[in-house]
Amino acid sequence: MLNIGCHLSISKGYEYMGKEALKINANTFQFFTRNPRGGKIKELNKEDIDKLLKIMQENNFAKILAHAPYTMNLCSDKEDIREFAKNMMKEDLERMEYIPGNMYNFHPGSHVGQGVEKGIEYIVKALNEVLTEEQNTIVLLETMAGKGTEIGRSFEELKTIMDKVKLKDKLGICLDTCHINDAGYDVSNIDKVLEEFDKIIGLKYLKAIHLNDSMNERGSHKDRHQKIGEGTIGIKNIEKIINNPILKKLPFYLETPNDLDGYAKEIELLRKLYV
Ligand code: FE
Ligand code: FE
Ligand code: ZN
Repeated sequence: MLNIGCHLSISKGYEYMGKEALKINANTFQFFTRNPRGGKIKELNKEDIDKLLKIMQENNFAKILAHAPYTMNLCSDKEDIREFAKNMMKEDLERMEYIPGNMYNFHPGSHVGQGVEKGIEYIVKALNEVLTEEQNTIVLLETMAGKGTEIGRSFEELKTIMDKVKLKDKLGICLDTCHINDAGYDVSNIDKVLEEFDKIIGLKYLKAIHLNDSMNERGSHKDRHQKIGEGTIGIKNIEKIINNPILKKLPFYLETPNDLDGYAKEIELLRKLYV
């Protein structure tokens, strides 16, 4: 079975997201751990979380994916911002232990002119301070489009970060199809992309896919997501991606510009195309 879901809002709680997922025939979903701009986190409601866990169990959900706020920058040039980001991730991961065995995704960060090397140094430092031997959550670095000074625009950059992290087995990669297209990878030849991924990072670290079409050409470094089949990647390539023997067992998360109804239609289409 295709493991697919979409991004859902956490504003009405955990159980609500589980119910929304069921409504659109999804068997997983992604959510922001808090307001995407950062900010205060809601009081943790364990009862609500337990209700979600029950829904997940009864309906055979694949792992769900928490997404860190995209403003969280572990490699800012300002110490207080780096500290803030690190504490945010620490708090998020502590919370993830109430939904153990799932995954947490974050954007490596933007070096804001300090250079990739310096940026990577800060990201590694933060991860080494935050990750614990005991945690039951795999932390995913997302492949980025390379907009501005974003780190993670190539498999090599992600590999460099991972190799310097002491608890490397707590890390994985979330491959975003729009982002790698915009970063310059030829998504129409997914076998070759995965071969390169394997050579540089290792396929065992590939844990999740953000399934998005792109509004822009390959290598544009833009990061504008498009609806499935309506962008430069196209439905034929997306069909190949979800049916790729290496990828087809992984969870897919849609981050396309849609309301719930639009997501339901994309999920229906993708389930039809899945063999
Ligand atoms: Fe993301
Ligand atoms: Fe993404
Ligand atoms: Zn994006």
